Amino acid sequence: MSLLDAILGNANFMNNQCLICQNPLGDIEITLNHKWHYDCEKCQICGNDLAGEVIAECLTSEREISHKPCWDKKHEALMAARPVEVTQGLLDYLNNVRLMIDGDLSKTIDDNQSIAEQAQRRWMHDKSIDEIFMSLRKMQAITACCSIVLNERQKKEVSLRISTEEKRRREAELKSQVLSAEDFRESEQKKLERKREKQTPEGKAIAQLMKTFGWNEEVAREHLKSMKANSQGTESVQ
Ligand SMILES: [Zn+2]
Ligand SMILES: [Zn+2]
Repeated sequence: MSLLDAILGNANFMNNQCLICQNPLGDIEITLNHKWHYDCEKCQICGNDLAGEVIAECLTSEREISHKPCWDKKHEALMAARPVEVTQGLLDYLNNVRLMIDGDLSKTIDDNQSIAEQAQRRWMHDKSIDEIFMSLRKMQAITACCSIVLNERQKKEVSLRISTEEKRRREAELKSQVLSAEDFRESEQKKLERKREKQTPEGKAIAQLMKTFGWNEEVAREHLKSMKANSQGTESVQ
């Protein structure tokens, strides 16, 4: 029988016992079907009065009978006041677990996802199938929980963001494919050019002329021929 059932009065759970201090209830509480002493309706941290709904909330969430702000403040103070020593190994382990789930808005979706993936791989490498299965069920619960938090409008926004992101990714992939194809073509061209240059001195000269003056091969060849003829002509004159 859960505390919630008890609070809702679904059972004779803890007959006539105060749900806060566990002592027997007084006549007045029993008569009015009140589940705790009127005197117990106090914040156990600040000592001030506590509303019935807040008490019910404390009982269901198993929080100390207190105002939420009082409880938060107390725990903040406890965290600050009681430093504990942890080993680097434990810290690394806990940080790795955090990296699986904490969204980092300063990074892209891709980076967030690859961080989560790496962290998950590190975490699961020494886990049994049973543990992984249990973890999967927990993640299912987390996903459902997150999706409930988002209202319809936000869900639309999220799916819009996802499709924009996917479109961007597809375009980037396409662009990189085109670029690498161009790069390949260029490098093939360069290879051909180098091959040509490595050939005969004449081939080298033609390639040089083509490159320098932007001529096609035929024009370069003709020019080289006339240059040769000229130089031979000059030689024969001398
Ligand atoms: Zn009580
Ligand atoms: Zn309080």
